[in-house]
Amino acid sequence: MLDQRKIERLTQLTLADPQNDLGFFSLGRAYVDGALFKQAIAPLMRALQLNPGLSAAYVLLAEAQRQAGDSQNAVHTLTQGYKIAEEHGDLMPRNQIADMLRELGAPIPEQKRVEFKPQMAADGNIQCRRCGRLGPKMKERPFRGALGEEIHGSICGPCFQEWIGRGTMVINELRLNLTEKASQDVYDEYMKEFLHLG
Ligand SMILES: [Zn+2]
Repeated sequence: MLDQRKIERLTQLTLADPQNDLGFFSLGRAYVDGALFKQAIAPLMRALQLNPGLSAAYVLLAEAQRQAGDSQNAVHTLTQGYKIAEEHGDLMPRNQIADMLRELGAPIPEQKRVEFKPQMAADGNIQCRRCGRLGPKMKERPFRGALGEEIHGSICGPCFQEWIGRGTMVINELRLNLTEKASQDVYDEYMKEFLHLG
């Protein structure tokens, strides 16, 4: 059912707090509940950009994309979400995603093992490659994979925080769809340049 007041409230929340992944997720869900599938897509993609580990958001985004007539992107989203859900051990979203992929006639991805290099004991500070100062080290790597690892080991928390803001602008300006490989590559390039990596 369409709850216009809820949508307005959540829209205000995401405007006031643009880093709030759950705020964007809830806004996307309110649109899906109201059968406004096209409108649900942008906030759900933002939720995933802020928090790529949000398994439930992949399910909802794929549903919105499918209902909006975009099965191709729905499959991309589900394939991505399946891997994340599996890595996180989120069995319910993973099974839901597998069912949706089957319904769409798409293959279920093979389980992919992510190599994890254990961190050396850190004193909480790091010599940052971007700002050149000794800054606070992030508690966890900001995302999975070799690049997340590299950032965790060489970029201070405030610099990465600054990138998140910039990255959101890049996504909007270039209309990137982070569930697609090509868009991810563009995003990564901008990020590497901003953080002085590679
Ligand atoms: Zn820094």
